[in-house]
Amino acid sequence: MTSVPDPPAPHAGPAGRGRRGWWWVGAVVVLLVAGGVVLAGVLEHRSWVAAVARYDAQVAEQADAAEESLTRVEAQEVVHPATLAAVVVTGRTLLAASEGQVEDPAVREPLQSALDAADALRENGVERATEERTVDALRRPNPFRPATRPARHVTVVTGISPAPAELDDAASAVAASATTVADAQQQWAFDGLQAAATDGDPVLTESAGLVTDEGTRTALAAALAAARTSLDAGVGGVPVAQSVAERDAVTSATEAVWSDRLARTLELRRQQARDSGIDCTVQPCVALTFDDGPGVETERLLQVLAEKHVPATFFLVGRNVEARPAVARAAAEAGHLLANHTWDHPQLTTLDDEEVRRELERTQEVITNATGQTPDVLRPPYGDVDDRVRSIATRTGLRVVLWNLDTEDWRTRNTDETRRRAVEGARPGSVVLLHDIHASTIDAVPGIIDDLRAQGYLLVTVDQMAP
Ligand SMILES: [Zn+2]
Repeated sequence: MTSVPDPPAPHAGPAGRGRRGWWWVGAVVVLLVAGGVVLAGVLEHRSWVAAVARYDAQVAEQADAAEESLTRVEAQEVVHPATLAAVVVTGRTLLAASEGQVEDPAVREPLQSALDAADALRENGVERATEERTVDALRRPNPFRPATRPARHVTVVTGISPAPAELDDAASAVAASATTVADAQQQWAFDGLQAAATDGDPVLTESAGLVTDEGTRTALAAALAAARTSLDAGVGGVPVAQSVAERDAVTSATEAVWSDRLARTLELRRQQARDSGIDCTVQPCVALTFDDGPGVETERLLQVLAEKHVPATFFLVGRNVEARPAVARAAAEAGHLLANHTWDHPQLTTLDDEEVRRELERTQEVITNATGQTPDVLRPPYGDVDDRVRSIATRTGLRVVLWNLDTEDWRTRNTDETRRRAVEGARPGSVVLLHDIHASTIDAVPGIIDDLRAQGYLLVTVDQMAP
C-alpha cells in the first residue's frame, strides 16, 4: 500500500496533504481522553457509593449500639439500686428490732457498718455514665457532582454510677451481716422462751392445791404447752415475734400463779391471826420492821421482843445470814416473820434480770437453810423497785412490802429521836422502818413498844397487817 502514491487532492496544496494525513491521531487522543474521563467518573462514582454505604452502616450500627446500651442500662437502673434498697430496709429493721436482744456488739456492728457503707454509696443517687460517639462527615471529592453526608454525633449511655457490681457488693455485705444478726436474734428468742419454760414448769407442778383460782394454773399449762411445741422446732423453728409472745405468755402466767399463791398464803395467815384474836381490819395495828440484819445487836433485840411478847418482821440481808445463821434461826424460832432484803443490798432496779433473780434466790436459799423458813416477802433496799423488779420478785415467790413510817434511825443514830419519830408518826396500819444493826435503835425499841401499846396499838408482823 505504501508503494502506491496518494492521488493528488483537488483542493489542497502540499501542506494540506500533511495535515490530512494525521487527523486520526487527534481523534484517538480525544477518544482516549474521553474514555479516561468516563472511566475516572465510573471509578469515582463506585468509590462514593461504597463510602456512602460504609457511612450508612456506621450510622445504623451507632443507633443500634445506643439503643441496645440504653435498654441494658435502664434495666440496671431498676434492678441493682432496688435490690440494695430492699436489703437496706430489711437490715435497718432488723438492726432496730434486735436492739436489746442481740447484745454482742461484735454481731451488730458489722451490720451497722454495712448499712452505713450502703447509705454512702446511695447518697448521691444513681447516675448514668455516657460517652459521645461520632460518625465522621462524608464529602464527595467530585467538583462536578458535589455531595455530602453530615457528621453524626450520638450520646451513648454506657452504664450507671455506682456500677452494678458496687451496688451488688454493698447489698451482699448488708445481707451477710444481717443473716448473722438474725441468727443471733433467733438464738436469743429461743433461749428466752426456754428460760421462761424452765421457770414455769416447777411453778405449775408445785402450785397444785395452793391456788384459789385453778384457772391461773390452767393458763400456765396452756402457755407451757405452746412453748414446748415451739422449742421442739429448734432454734429458728418459729418466728422471733412468736417466741417472744410465747415467752411473755409463760412469764405472765407464771407470775399470775405465784400472785394467786402468795395472796392465798397471805389470806391464810390473816385467818390464823383472826383465829388468835388479831384482826387489823378492826383493830389499830402497827408493824415494827427491822432491816439489814442479822447484826451484832440482833440477839439483844430478840431478847427485848421476847420480854415484851412482840412479834416483828426481819428483812434479812443474805450475806449477813450466812455470817450469823444461828441468829436468823433464833428469830425464826421466836415466831418472828423472816423476809428477804437481798443478798448484799444493791439497788435492784440497776441490775439486769438475772442479777436481780440471783440476789433474791441466793437470799431465799440461805434463809431457808439456816432457819427452815422460806420467806415470801421482799423489801427492796432503799425501796428501789419498779414493775420489772416486782415481776421478778413475784416469780421468785416474793411479795414486795415497803414501809410508810421512816424513823430515820440510820441517820440520827439517836435513841430518843428514833422513839419519838416512831411513836408520833404511828397511825393504824403503820409499817415502821427500823434497822437492827444500830445499838441506838435497839435501845429505842422498849420505849416504842410501851408508848404504842399505851396508845392502844396492837403490834403485828407485816403479813397480819390489813391490806
Ligand atoms: Zn436496807
